[in-house]
Amino acid sequence: QAKHRGKSAYSHFAPEMTEVSHERLQMESRMRRALELQEFELYYQPIVETGSGRLHGVEALLRWNNPAMGMVMPDRFIPLAEETGLIIPIGEWVLEEACRAAMGWQQETGREIVISVNVSPRQFRDPGFTDAVTRALERSGLAPHLLELEITERLILDNSIETAEILRQLDRRGIKLSLDDFGTGYSALGYLKTYPFDTLKIDRSFTQDVMKEQESASLVRAIINMAHSLGLKVIAEGVEEEAQTHFLQREGCDYSQGYFYSRPQPAPEFDQWLKTNRRVNH
Ligand code: C2E
Ligand code: MG
Ligand code: MG
Ligand code: MG
Repeated sequence: QAKHRGKSAYSHFAPEMTEVSHERLQMESRMRRALELQEFELYYQPIVETGSGRLHGVEALLRWNNPAMGMVMPDRFIPLAEETGLIIPIGEWVLEEACRAAMGWQQETGREIVISVNVSPRQFRDPGFTDAVTRALERSGLAPHLLELEITERLILDNSIETAEILRQLDRRGIKLSLDDFGTGYSALGYLKTYPFDTLKIDRSFTQDVMKEQESASLVRAIINMAHSLGLKVIAEGVEEEAQTHFLQREGCDYSQGYFYSRPQPAPEFDQWLKTNRRVNH
């Protein structure tokens, strides 16, 4: 009977699996050429001081414009880029492009603006990673304390000595480290004191419900207090409504990011936002 089931399952699922792996292969071969064809683009989203709305930093968010697929969002292609290792050259490009853009904004505004760059575990663990960071800083002339690397709990789950050592090395150089999507991963909190994080980013799944659910409000309040007592700054992600900003301000959340302030925008539009947005120049 098992044999029979196996056979029918095979004949039923095989064509779909072939289709899926064909799609993957096609995406992979397109991704291999995407860098040289200049199909990647960074979008920029401001991170502001919660009370004043004054600009604090900017997060760089990757987009892939492919003629056949249109605009591909990171959740659709980053996993494949990680599996194939393509995230390493792509990530280097992101670092260089983001640091160069940030240097341009400092020169234009005369102000220090932090640039936040997402780094995936595979990229972080690559032996060339710290060199890539150094190159991006040197080529752009950006000061190390204006670069913030966003990593997730996924990276430190492995508890490896190498990971800890690289985090400390980056920290000693003055580069900022932030813990992205806080609250969505595994709830071991010990690593918050073990690793040299500067900033904790509250995942938008919590922020989005603070006005709807007492539980989410309590969690956000607790996260902010815990982070502050550990000496970390806090960014709330996914702020979409004004009421949320009042709540976050009352609770002492340092920074906020979300559609309420601005959607992620391509460089020319972001430059325009920077020029016309009066909050920047407070
Ligand atoms: P993330 O780092 O947590 O980035 C925040 C995501 O939330 C972004 O999605 C952003 O567009 C979205 N977002 C911002 N404000 C709001 C809001 O008010 N409401 C809602 N609903 N969403 C908001 P995006 O750009 O699609 O990026 C998704 C994820 O892909 C990122 O999550 C990050 O983990 C990853 N990613 C993006 N760029 C890169 C990159 O250059 N390298 C790597 N390794 N990962 C990247
Ligand atoms: Mg991020
Ligand atoms: Mg530090
Ligand atoms: Mg996040």
